[in-house]
Amino acid sequence: MKKSFSFRTLIWVIALITAFSCLTLPAQSAAAPKPVKYVFLFIGDGMSIPQRMMADEYSVRAKQGKLFINQMPWQAVTTTRSANEFITDSAASGTAIACGEKTINGRIGIDATGKRKFESIAKVAKKSGRKVGIITSITINHATPASFYANVLSRSNYYAIALDLINSNFDYFGGGGAAKHDDKKSKLYQGNIYDLAAKAGYQVAHGKKAIMQLKPGSGKAFAVGSPSAIPYAIDNTPDTMRLPEFVDQAIKLLDNPNGFFIMTEGGRIDSVCHSNDAATVLQEVIEFDKAVRIAKAFADKHPEETLIVVTGDHETGGLTLGFAGTGYKSYIENLKYQKCSLTELTRKINAIGDSKKSVTMDDIKPLMKKYFNMAYKSDKARTADALILTSAEEKQLANAFAEQFPKGKNKGGWAMARNIVRIFNNKCALGWTTGAHTALPVLTTAYGKSSDMFNGFIDNTDIAKILKQVVK
Ligand SMILES: [Zn+2]
Repeated sequence: MKKSFSFRTLIWVIALITAFSCLTLPAQSAAAPKPVKYVFLFIGDGMSIPQRMMADEYSVRAKQGKLFINQMPWQAVTTTRSANEFITDSAASGTAIACGEKTINGRIGIDATGKRKFESIAKVAKKSGRKVGIITSITINHATPASFYANVLSRSNYYAIALDLINSNFDYFGGGGAAKHDDKKSKLYQGNIYDLAAKAGYQVAHGKKAIMQLKPGSGKAFAVGSPSAIPYAIDNTPDTMRLPEFVDQAIKLLDNPNGFFIMTEGGRIDSVCHSNDAATVLQEVIEFDKAVRIAKAFADKHPEETLIVVTGDHETGGLTLGFAGTGYKSYIENLKYQKCSLTELTRKINAIGDSKKSVTMDDIKPLMKKYFNMAYKSDKARTADALILTSAEEKQLANAFAEQFPKGKNKGGWAMARNIVRIFNNKCALGWTTGAHTALPVLTTAYGKSSDMFNGFIDNTDIAKILKQVVK
């Protein structure tokens, strides 16, 4: 009797242990996914739920429908903390997403002790025989893309990162050019990065015209769309090769019987979240969504062989879809009035400042009207739909003017432009809490083969853990 009781207890204990270990297993080991021939990973830098929902709501109000990235059938809330901070930077989060390992902020592809190098999903894919493409709208050796091909102690070692790029032997690099590509101060200096890439067998194409001439079957390609980052979508530079075009070209160049892995970063979403410029963020997110739709069109032609995963590396700016001054009202559609980025507005204001001996507020007002549809109460010639400044906002601008133009002389900087954009954002019922990142989790969405692996509440390291199984 006693013996059989212990036996039954033992069975129960085993059953309980099994049940608990199933519960605590990370999502990816529940059932190993089968290999997928074509894998797309899209990362919106600085893109969390507020950025996605702002663009989604705007798009719906503009009668352009919901974003595709928000309609993908599988979703996972994704935590982002780094090895040493609750608030991650792009190097640590890039490493987590690319390699499935935590490291400290600032580090790429190497652990917190500085000793152990990680292997990225892109390297695993390359070893498997797939072709590999890395695309970004920011400089190609910036932290996020670098996490897929580099192992460096500091994200600011741009030259060292660019050398790792060349040594990766990956098949396609597209987007902004390499930062510090001729850094003679680097201890590792051995020549201009573009020359070294050509020597290593890359076809290096500068500018849209040259890039469009790259043909399938002609070997590894380095498509440099712009000397630095790709200009913002809102600033409308017609000769610029844009993110969806890079994705389209990468598919054409990399398609082969062994499949491919393509990582695409919307790298400039982060830049403009840092400067709290919502309308420019909006246009970058919409363009990012268009790039994902290019992959979707490919996936729909190869439904049993393609996986698309979309995530963000962290939230930037503390973007809030509401504002104390506008209560329960939302005016996201007002974002349509902004016609240039904060960066471009800063340049325009400084150009006026530099061209005149003495600047007055009346010199700035036409810019506010033309590029933001914002007008003073006293402006009798304003349009019917103009966003009219409150007395408090007029005062805020007067203070900003006094800061940048003491006695009418231009001190430079962006006090004036920044305050115009800040007021404009508030008039769209949007708020920001920081010029840095936040610890808000991001959203990962997935479409296609094995997309059901992205479900529930996961960590950013889980993305690489799952994808590494998929590209084996
Ligand atoms: Zn980032």
